[in-house]
Amino acid sequence: MSRIAIFPGSFDPITKGHEDIVRRAIPLFDEIIVAIGVNSSKNYMYSLEQRLQWIKATFSDCKSVKVIQYEGLTIEACKKHQVKFILRGLRNSNDYEYEKSIAMMNQAMSKDIETIYLNTQPEYAAISSTIVRDIIKNQGNALPFLASGVRL
Ligand code: ADP
Repeated sequence: MSRIAIFPGSFDPITKGHEDIVRRAIPLFDEIIVAIGVNSSKNYMYSLEQRLQWIKATFSDCKSVKVIQYEGLTIEACKKHQVKFILRGLRNSNDYEYEKSIAMMNQAMSKDIETIYLNTQPEYAAISSTIVRDIIKNQGNALPFLASGVRL
């Protein structure tokens, strides 16, 4: 059976931190699905189509990376795509505490799905989509923080 991981997030927009986590996970899994979670009550800065396109461009050189969108619970998307691993990136202890609670709830709902964490590299630890959006809104240069496929 092939090892498939899902990397869920908003990716509004995809950053160098996200890209690094996915690229470092490639040797660990047969396939990685970057999954844009769509929450109809949330306001995004970039459209779903734009975010999908940037993620596809970022990983166009990676045969084992796919991009999808999904609505609802991540574990339901896992079941639909035969995924047994949820991949997450950790920047600091706040990320860890937050991710731990979600992982425990997911485990309680679905015993056979494991959450796998990779620590960020120090140079990406301060990068968040929220701060990047702020830089863009204020006409700053966000390119050094954005994934390789993003074109503003
Ligand atoms: P969410 O909407 O779930 O917060 P994000 O798109 O912000 O989604 O992030 C998706 C995943 O990427 C999360 O596991 C998050 O911790 C991780 N992540 C975000 N930024 C970084 C970074 N700079 N380095 C490593 N991991 C990161």
